[in-house]
Amino acid sequence: MAEILKGAPVAAALTEKLIARAEILKSKNINPTLAIVRVGEKPGDISYETGATKRCEKIGIDVKKFILPDDASHEKILNVIREINNDSSIHGCLVLRPLPDKKIEEAACEILSPSKDVDCMTAGSLASVFAGRGDGYAPCTAQACLEILDFYGVELEGKNIAVLGRSLVIGRPLSIMLQNRNATITMCHSKTRDLEKISRNSEIIIAAIGRAKFVDKNFIAPGQIIIDVGINVDEAGKLCGDVKFEEVEPIVKAVTPVPAGVGSVTTAVLAKHVIEAAER
Ligand code: NAP
Repeated sequence: MAEILKGAPVAAALTEKLIARAEILKSKNINPTLAIVRVGEKPGDISYETGATKRCEKIGIDVKKFILPDDASHEKILNVIREINNDSSIHGCLVLRPLPDKKIEEAACEILSPSKDVDCMTAGSLASVFAGRGDGYAPCTAQACLEILDFYGVELEGKNIAVLGRSLVIGRPLSIMLQNRNATITMCHSKTRDLEKISRNSEIIIAAIGRAKFVDKNFIAPGQIIIDVGINVDEAGKLCGDVKFEEVEPIVKAVTPVPAGVGSVTTAVLAKHVIEAAER
């Protein structure tokens, strides 16, 4: 039976440390503040916004919400970002993505102040992650994977890791962050040949492809550690990851569950970035 790498203890440990840091900031009359920009009423966005708000309130971070209708003009959306850039009481900004259209998303990413970019939207933040400079904030979900591995004491140096999925929000930056920790990465995507073999030959698999229960027993080998980033709905309408948990769990050394795995750490990482931005 595998060790189940639950997200809650990781998030709780992060939260406890952040409460102390928020108190220090408040003693200096600095109220750490996150702006959340939501366009439209997508249930996934609302659910993430609710989770992020609860986490921030617990820590002592103020949340200012900027909610726009689905059909808001590009100019209106950009003006909200400009307002946030110019508001010195706001330290971090989360824009719930994807925005209704790609063009406005690119424009929003371009104008957000890099110092408030707590979820790695801007090219500057991505460049910082890719260069390993440490002056920009990593994407929260990618960072959540690292927080879980660190919390459960998984050594990364010298490890062979298969990262499945190369999106700019998860797989690609995560593969660089893992390389910066001296792991050896095989970056896999939809055109990768022999995906099952590559996965079986890795010591750690990180699945971020958005395909329900795709990673089954053919991908895995005893002793592996599996991080499941996927959030999908299975045929029965139940939330599930990219990993076929029931098939994989009896074989591997450790695996994150879905729900209650990576997703539950992401908002704690977001809060960590807001506190860091306020401290800076
Ligand atoms: P995405 O932008 O759609 O990217 C998916 C990636 O997976 C692409 O690189 C794609 O390859 C690759 N892929 C798709 N099918 C594949 C296959 N059959 N074999 C190998 N690679 C394949 O998705 P995303 O935004 O990165 O999200 C990935 C998953 O993470 C989703 O389930 C999403 O809901 C979840 N997610 C979780 C959290 C969290 O907090 N836990 C946060 C955000 C997202 P190509 O590049 O070749 O197309």
